[in-house]
Amino acid sequence: MNEQFLQYIWKFRLLNPDLRTSGGEKLAVLHPGIQNTDGGPDFFNARIRINTNIWAGNVEVHYRSSDWIRHRHQFDPAYENVILHVVYENDQAIRTKHKEMMPTLIMRNNFPASIEERYTQIMQNHLWIPCYKLLNGAGTNILRLWAPALATERLTAKSGFVLRLLDEYADWDEVLYILLSSGFGFRINALPFELLARSIPLRIVRKNADSLFKLEALFYGQSGLLCKHPGDKYKRSLQAEYCHQQAKYNLKPLKPGLWKMLRLHPQNFPDIRISQLVQCLYNCKAEPGMLLNITETDKLKDFFRLSASEYWNRHYRFGRTSGKKEKKIGCGSAGLLLINILAPFFFAYGSARDFSPLRMRAVELLESIEGEDNHETRMWQSLGMNAGNALESQALIQLKRTYCDHKRCLECRIGLKVLDKKPMP
Ligand code: SF4
Repeated sequence: MNEQFLQYIWKFRLLNPDLRTSGGEKLAVLHPGIQNTDGGPDFFNARIRINTNIWAGNVEVHYRSSDWIRHRHQFDPAYENVILHVVYENDQAIRTKHKEMMPTLIMRNNFPASIEERYTQIMQNHLWIPCYKLLNGAGTNILRLWAPALATERLTAKSGFVLRLLDEYADWDEVLYILLSSGFGFRINALPFELLARSIPLRIVRKNADSLFKLEALFYGQSGLLCKHPGDKYKRSLQAEYCHQQAKYNLKPLKPGLWKMLRLHPQNFPDIRISQLVQCLYNCKAEPGMLLNITETDKLKDFFRLSASEYWNRHYRFGRTSGKKEKKIGCGSAGLLLINILAPFFFAYGSARDFSPLRMRAVELLESIEGEDNHETRMWQSLGMNAGNALESQALIQLKRTYCDHKRCLECRIGLKVLDKKPMP
């Protein structure tokens, strides 16, 4: 039991009927007021009826009535318009500035015990999500309605990184270039790919954008992957070209040990992904901003269905021959690039320029892509929460990471449904 829980009961009026103040007067809550999370009373502009008189003003919630004194509210003018003190324990009579008794509602025994039981159960368990055992299909319809707001929260959080990059580079093209590069690292190698792009300024990429071979030499050379073992003819030719570029642009390569290979499917080896990134930069002529002009999701997806260069049809690593297979980015991975890179970029770009159609486009883009299939979405699925598209899968990820993992059930729309359900038999 804490103050936040009491505020929740008050806010959603989960109270018993036939309320009385501590002085025995009949009390009705006409409107609980607007919750205030800053300094001052907990709820502004509430409306209550005490006996036949209607009062409008603020409401303060405390666990104990003596907290009023302990918090020194009696000296704070911000609390002069409090019309009701809502407490769990009335351990001290509180008087208003005019020395009258403060109207007080004692919460103890004035809300259903089942809500507190469920709340305690949720707060004490350590399951995948706190309400795991109580959810029971309660959230599906709520998620449908809440998904746009949750996904927007996630886009806002992701756009923070985009805007920090903009602060650093002051150039949208350079920002998108770095983001795209990190996207090609997917989850495991996102950071090395980001560092790779940071190590090759876009102006140098542009100078070499007319040649796939030169771009590969530049990116493989800077990745540090060319420095291991002498390798085959193709690798040696890349090394020779890179030597020339390194001297020309005074480049410092990354340490090869940055790249993670453990438990990676060969299709995701950085050797393959670098070639696909290079193909991406080659196709857009190192002008990533052109992606803003592609308005259809299918065309954007097609743009990212990139193949690694021919050498990689028979290799997964330099110098190690394998069976012939084109290394083309799959539909799911192309979708991930739209979800994780383009949508946050559009959103951040729209936010920075105060251009809401672009923010809207980010949301619509997510709506038009299939939802992700990963551990988190599969766990939600097992709880009956299916994501119909990427907007909903992003919403579920946001819900898990920012609400469930921090036990913010009192701020969760599903939480209201779960807590307020009739007691289980
Ligand atoms: S935040 Fe919501 S969905 Fe998550 S555990 Fe709490 S009530 Fe359940």
